[in-house]
Amino acid sequence: MNKSIFTSRRYIAILVALLIGVVAMVVGNKRKHYITDAGVVWTTEYHITYEARHSLSDSIIAIFNAIDMSASPYNEKSLVSRINNNATSVVDSLFAKLYNASLYFNKESGGAFDPTVMPLVNAWGFGYKSGSLPTQATLDSLLSFTGINKTRLEGDSVIKSDNRIKFDFSSIAKGLACDEVAAMLRRNGAENYVVEIGGEVVVSGKNARGLPWHVSVDLPADNDSTVDHSSTLLIELNRGAVATSGSYRKNKTVGGRKVSHIINPLTGQADVSSLLSVTIIAADCMTADAWATACMVMGLDKTMQLAQKHPELGVMTISADDDGNYVVWANATFTNHVVM
Ligand code: ADP
Ligand code: MG
Repeated sequence: MNKSIFTSRRYIAILVALLIGVVAMVVGNKRKHYITDAGVVWTTEYHITYEARHSLSDSIIAIFNAIDMSASPYNEKSLVSRINNNATSVVDSLFAKLYNASLYFNKESGGAFDPTVMPLVNAWGFGYKSGSLPTQATLDSLLSFTGINKTRLEGDSVIKSDNRIKFDFSSIAKGLACDEVAAMLRRNGAENYVVEIGGEVVVSGKNARGLPWHVSVDLPADNDSTVDHSSTLLIELNRGAVATSGSYRKNKTVGGRKVSHIINPLTGQADVSSLLSVTIIAADCMTADAWATACMVMGLDKTMQLAQKHPELGVMTISADDDGNYVVWANATFTNHVVM
């Protein structure tokens, strides 16, 4: 009798243990499913969808914070702010990544891309110091300490030849953030994802319906001078990145002149030209982001030359002709991705 109670208790215990084991296996081996995260970072929206076993929200936020603490000139405590204020010269790995990439894009773009534009960005009233219309004399004096070539990275120290030099990596920070989030997702076993921050996008694999991701690119709508017929273009990508830069959204009129937040680091000028937007498809988002900004400064002819020199890049431009009509140009690499 006693023995039989013992046996049945043991039987129940084994059953319970088995049950716990099965539950643990189901929870631990939770099937992958598509998870969506969205929010606001750097005053813009982000949308991230990925197929994983569990949410990776915390890691996404950690990446945003790390990039902000390293590279945001609008965060007083960030490393770039301290370097800009000459409080330190010791860089971290994110700063070094942005700096080294910038050196490459600066050289390849003939100086059109330059992260030392911060004083010019401020002078035109787009940075953290609001400005009025700067005089040519002001621009000339700012140009005397603009140029990444007036700086160098020695070990983990950034050396500035003039302590008024200030860095602004805003033009590639979102692209880098997309790449860093994508790398983190892959490390966690996610191969199907779309990461979008303020219009810069990285995709890999398939969506929840098992189809390739479609990225929509806004065609500009300029209410002032150009005919307003905004629409979107759909791009299909298996793996890669898309970034757009344009003067049609972030521009303002200062002293009767329409100025863009994208500045020519060689002349100091910020004029809105007939090139309204550039969209780049590249293997990684920082590259796409950098070229989109650089091409806006380079203008249409040099952008077409770039597309020829770098056929691995998909390049699409939208310009306005003399009558204010949109003219769209794209290379074959870009057109191959267009679905409608
Ligand atoms: P957005 O940030 O609107 O996506 P971009 O990626 O083109 O647009 O980045 C523009 C920002 O980059 C500007 O607001 C400024 O901070 C900075 N910038 C402006 N001109 C240049 C330039 N010639 N090279 C590098 N960065 C620039
Ligand atoms: Mg950019």
